Amino acid sequence: MFQEIKCKKCRHTLFNQDTIKNNLILNAHGETTENSNACQVIPEEKNIFLNEDCLPSWVKNKIEVEEWSKGRIYCPKCDSRIGAFDYVSGQKCNCLNNLLPPVHIIKSKIDIVKI
Ligand SMILES: [Zn+2]
Ligand SMILES: [Zn+2]
Repeated sequence: MFQEIKCKKCRHTLFNQDTIKNNLILNAHGETTENSNACQVIPEEKNIFLNEDCLPSWVKNKIEVEEWSKGRIYCPKCDSRIGAFDYVSGQKCNCLNNLLPPVHIIKSKIDIVKI
């Protein structure tokens, strides 16, 4: 099964299947979602987290501009806010066992499309 992640607003492909296949998507515990049972405490996670090792360059550039501190991530096409990164606060997940991965995408702003 292959997936793409699109901007909900303009349908621009944010992450293509090659990027996702490289374990791009992590859960709140920084694990690849396929072998995870993280944070059963929350009924539904609002965010997905991205693996820093395989971020596409448009995200990486944004983080570099902010010097790996914190900021928001926007759709490169329509400029709607789709996520954020935070290398400063060190926020924990809801079960308080793990630090959240620093880069997240808001689930309600994207469509995960099976292709
Ligand atoms: Zn967009
Ligand atoms: Zn947790």
